Amino acid sequence: MRLILLGPPGAGKGTQAQRLTASHGLVQLSTGDMLRAAVKAGTATGLKAKAVMDRGELVSDEIVVGIIAERIDQPDCRKGFILDGFPRTTKQAEALDKMLAERKLKLDAVIEMKVDDSALVERITGRFTCAKCGAGYHDTFKQPKTPGVCDVCGSTEFSRRADDKAETVVPRLKAYHEQTAPLLPYYNGRGILRQVDGMAAMDEVTRQIEGVLAAL
Ligand code: ADP
Ligand code: ADP
Ligand code: ZN
Repeated sequence: MRLILLGPPGAGKGTQAQRLTASHGLVQLSTGDMLRAAVKAGTATGLKAKAVMDRGELVSDEIVVGIIAERIDQPDCRKGFILDGFPRTTKQAEALDKMLAERKLKLDAVIEMKVDDSALVERITGRFTCAKCGAGYHDTFKQPKTPGVCDVCGSTEFSRRADDKAETVVPRLKAYHEQTAPLLPYYNGRGILRQVDGMAAMDEVTRQIEGVLAAL
């Protein structure tokens, strides 16, 4: 199965993708995570991407398409994957189409996670992750069961993203509405767009996504 989770920053794409990797054996391909890893490692790509990400703007199509093209040929992607945060522009969507066609693969569904802009600032500014295993948490909506200890791996170290600040949310939402939202009619026109209520609680969103997948 090959899926795209599409939605604004903070919509819950990463949260749901992590759950689907566990329940369906799919690989999560998050361009945001890959870019942050490149920044941390200080690669040439990371150096180019860092300032753009800090401003809340989109990294060039060329860079992210290159990252994905390399990644989908790795053996763990053979069983299927969930794209989280890619594609984000029409150019990227077209490049993905070409990549999949060349490999005789198809997309099963594009799942839109609808969340009001007004809810996203709190989602983003309260977000933190386990520094060791990457499990996602939130100050208000998902605290670890034991305060300060990761539920998944027991680590006591957590991190917050450099771009998860109130000031950076505005340009990120602008980028979403201007550059990514046009992908909704793009995929709707092909009959593969599905919607879930991203404003609902996490478990309810998971239930709705499972419903979409069961109907495929
Ligand atoms: P995205 O990958 O779309 O940017 P995340 O999955 O990282 O979004 O979610 C953003 C933040 O909101 C995280 O801190 C996460 O724990 C929290 N979150 C995710 N889904 C929900 C939800 N349905 N209700 C409340 N908080 C949520
Ligand atoms: P969120 O879901 O909260 O917006 P991501 O982790 O998906 O966060 O992305 C973080 C940043 O990484 C984006 O603001 C952008 O600068 C960059 N980025 C990630 N994916 C892409 C992409 N497909 N195209 C361009 N830039 C991207
Ligand atoms: Zn952990």
